[in-house]
Amino acid sequence: MHFPAVFLFFFVVEPRLTSIFVCLHDFFHARGSIFAIKLYITKKTKLYIGIVKQFQFEFSATDKLKSELDKINQWRKSRFTSSTVFSIYAENTEQEKIKAACEIIEREMPDALYLGCTTNGTITEGRLSDAPFVVTCTLCEYPSTQVCLLQYPLSESSALGVIDELKKELAKRPWVKAIELLATIRGMSMTPFCEACTDIDPNIQIFGGGAFNIDLNNDNACVFSKAGGYSEKGVAFLLIGGKDINIRTTHITGWKPLGKEFHVTKATGNILQELDGKPAYDAYYKYLNIPNNSDFFYNTLEFPFFYNHHGINILRAPTASNADGSLTMTSNIEEDVYARIAYGDPWTILNSIEDGGREIAEFQPEIIKVFSCAARRTFWGNDEISKETYPFQNIAHTSGFYTSGEFLRMNSELIQHNVTLVVVAFREGEVDESATFTMAPEKFSGKVSMINRLATFIDAATAELAEANKKLAMAAITDSLTQLYNRAEIQKRISSSLRECNEEGKKVALIMLDIDNFKMVNDTYGHKEGDSVILGLTETMKSVVTENAPEGSIGRWGGEEFMIVLPGFDSQAAAKIANQIRTTFAAISFPKARRKTTSIGVVEALRGESSDMVCVRVDSALYEAKNNGKNQVFIG
Ligand code: GH3
Ligand code: MG
Ligand code: MG
Repeated sequence: MHFPAVFLFFFVVEPRLTSIFVCLHDFFHARGSIFAIKLYITKKTKLYIGIVKQFQFEFSATDKLKSELDKINQWRKSRFTSSTVFSIYAENTEQEKIKAACEIIEREMPDALYLGCTTNGTITEGRLSDAPFVVTCTLCEYPSTQVCLLQYPLSESSALGVIDELKKELAKRPWVKAIELLATIRGMSMTPFCEACTDIDPNIQIFGGGAFNIDLNNDNACVFSKAGGYSEKGVAFLLIGGKDINIRTTHITGWKPLGKEFHVTKATGNILQELDGKPAYDAYYKYLNIPNNSDFFYNTLEFPFFYNHHGINILRAPTASNADGSLTMTSNIEEDVYARIAYGDPWTILNSIEDGGREIAEFQPEIIKVFSCAARRTFWGNDEISKETYPFQNIAHTSGFYTSGEFLRMNSELIQHNVTLVVVAFREGEVDESATFTMAPEKFSGKVSMINRLATFIDAATAELAEANKKLAMAAITDSLTQLYNRAEIQKRISSSLRECNEEGKKVALIMLDIDNFKMVNDTYGHKEGDSVILGLTETMKSVVTENAPEGSIGRWGGEEFMIVLPGFDSQAAAKIANQIRTTFAAISFPKARRKTTSIGVVEALRGESSDMVCVRVDSALYEAKNNGKNQVFIG
């Protein structure tokens, strides 16, 4: 046994939330080999107060964990501790190792709670830990602070029952302010689980992460806790509350939507079948040139889909591309939403971290937990991933893990996020008004990255194109002089109104108008005056129809002839509208042409009548109106 280095710093600590971190470097394999144990106790008050001990020696693993717990127990003797909770994160599902650690904690600290899961990497001291097995011990020091553990088996079919049980437990504990959840979620939809949480007291915050495996392609994962032991299909809840504990949550993405918007035309659960009516995979191949091979998952992780759900931005990454061109997504994706491919870029991400960090720093937390998506770790790589979590360490002690999905309750809805960083800040007691808490963001060279510039370029070009397309689409259906629908569009609307009203058993009426003696206006006062008269009738029709039949559509049939389709109207109701247009228009005095009149035909469509037939009949009615002396409505 040897002690190559021992560092000990001791400061006075206030009775506040304290975190002790024990990182066990594969210590269960330590027989005869060298392993490291780090014990950290940190304290964030006005002063940075902490104890740092570092040991390196050959030792028997079980004894070593026991001795670390002895030290924590001794520390606890010297001060009041209301609750002690261990978070245990392991990189794989080796049950014996996990159980051994749990047993030691149960034996040496019977009053402490523990919960944990397997992860895609663990965060301690704000950095990705190189230890495969990490234990974090959190001590609450305010007498009012309370915690409680629950654990249930979890499957898609048991999800609703689990939330019912959770609600019963919450009803017994009015002190609960927040719920941390750890769940095995791979291969199942968590949508029913999340939706069932919506009517939990809106003041209760919910956050947590999906258990994962150090190997992204390995679905094996587990959760475990003092409440339910080891489970490969389970969920553990840590209820936290009491009057003096304060919790602030936020979620950070940094991923930005890029370019074209896709309409999700077909999606079932977490299978995204079609975008814009085409196989979803085509989008990745066409726009990003990502082939459908074994690297598909890694390549697309950096380009998740981005959509808005009730004002909340959601990211969903594909986990596999299927033979039929559909994509299996990290979580459920909604049908009929508009999604865009998003991109990650270090500059943009670190800016978002700085914004999120500022918000958290103002809260003056004593402990920060982060639940970060494993996709972020893949994006940055092991050497750089800590750039986005280390800034939080400057605010307070930061720990957490890389998940298969991050959970955060937002606007009462529990949302399963992907590719985000869910940040949870804890503080016991009030903020220190005199203290100024800041964070130290990771610095850049000052130069905006090329990817950021290109993404801005693509976004600007796409926005211009979208605007131009919108104008083109409008131009294709409108008449240039009046801006009313053109003949093709009004014909289409007549057909669709007939079809819909037929299906719904509703009536449809048609009105056809023609300006009387219009040729004379052109011949006498010129084309310009003729145009003004056409526009005068246009305004009259628009105002009368908007006011009395907002669901109606008006189109220019040709020259000075117009057609109005009125779904839900019979011929009498339509004739009323026609007469109102006729009298209003007749009252207008044009600068040169003075007063003009219109002749109007009105018909009600017969059941099953074709649009051509109704148009012929309304034309005949208009002819009758002309024939009978003009300036009148004729019901055909
Ligand atoms: P009636 O009372 O029988 O309808 O007689 P009318 O003079 O209105 O007869 P007609 O329908 O033949 O007249 C249509 C005229 O409308 C012919 C054409 O020069 C004119 N016209 C068609 N489109 C426009 C346009 O966009 N602007 C102007 N100023 N005139 C147009
Ligand atoms: Mg005319
Ligand atoms: Mg005419």
